[in-house]
Amino acid sequence: MSSVFDDLVGQEHIIEILQSAATASRDGAQTQEMTHAWLFTGPPGSGRSSAAVAFAQSLICSNGGCGACSDCNAAKTSGHPDVEIIRTEGLSIKVEEIRELLTRVAWAPSMGGWRVVVMEDADRLTESAVNALLKAIEEPGSRTVWLLCAPTLHDVLPTIRSRCRHLQLRTPSTEAVTQVLINRDKISPDMAQFAAKVSQGHIGRARYLATNEVARSNRKVVMQLPMQLGSLASALQAAQTLVDIATEEARTTSESRDEIEIEKLQEAYGKGATGRGMATGGSKAVKELEKEQKSRAIRMVRDSIDGALLDIATFYRDVMMVQSGNIKSIINTDMREEIESYASSHPQHSTILKINALMDARSNLAHNAAPLVTCEALMCQISKNKS
Ligand SMILES: [Zn+2]
Repeated sequence: MSSVFDDLVGQEHIIEILQSAATASRDGAQTQEMTHAWLFTGPPGSGRSSAAVAFAQSLICSNGGCGACSDCNAAKTSGHPDVEIIRTEGLSIKVEEIRELLTRVAWAPSMGGWRVVVMEDADRLTESAVNALLKAIEEPGSRTVWLLCAPTLHDVLPTIRSRCRHLQLRTPSTEAVTQVLINRDKISPDMAQFAAKVSQGHIGRARYLATNEVARSNRKVVMQLPMQLGSLASALQAAQTLVDIATEEARTTSESRDEIEIEKLQEAYGKGATGRGMATGGSKAVKELEKEQKSRAIRMVRDSIDGALLDIATFYRDVMMVQSGNIKSIINTDMREEIESYASSHPQHSTILKINALMDARSNLAHNAAPLVTCEALMCQISKNKS
């Protein structure tokens, strides 16, 4: 039988724990036996929030997370009354937001089982927000289960950390990602292997590359940028290229989805019937949705730039490998010639500086720095370190 856990690649060590917790909770275990707070950590792309959402589904689905029933589907798309998925567009989650959340989840679950809150960015909780949350987590006999996600344990405050059951996701191996692409997504072995390798265990990115020709040609353009850097003008041009590609990617991904969402919302308000529903509250809801879509698009651009910077980092990593005589372990085997020629014409110490600059830029982007300015500063720095 298929299950919501099938999508978690290379995480067998935690799937077992989650499945048995879900089974125990369904078999009439007492509320005090259920762990009420869980913390999922793992590198980007390992699927920490997918794991948390899958666990939420398994807790509210009468089949333990079949992935096919209406409960499972509703939970995944934030449409289930007992499942709340908190995604953050902003820098931090403030105490007011937590208080508002706590009043929402104070009610008993509507279906009788559990009420589940998935918080995708628990690392963004402010200290006062954490304090407000702690009381809720420790409440005895509560029917609410908290599933918090963060990149690493150190990203969450110790007070939260000590009260959660911690699950560490792994970066799936290239082989595991390749197999999933072949078996589940029906991708040819050659393409699957290429996409898995250059995506470095990021399964979502691997699937996107393997199934999207535009994404592959964009990647090619991005990977040529290191060879084009020299003058200030070329650095600024490279930055612009990065932002343009990311913006275009975000636009094509969100365009059709945005339209469908608006359409659905209008239907819910009775568009095409009397039109009165739209007048009373409908247009306000549409405006709010549009605002939400806009901030989602901004985040998508950032994520896309981040992916591109990570790609470029693998280029310099490969250069470093060649410079240290380790040519067998290069990731971008399709660029072997360029990598070798770059490695022989640039000193090793500058390669390390470039990788550091890339990682700094990623961290700045994650802290909401303006994309274009961040990329410009980065590309100028890399050009400066050309020798
Ligand atoms: Zn189900």
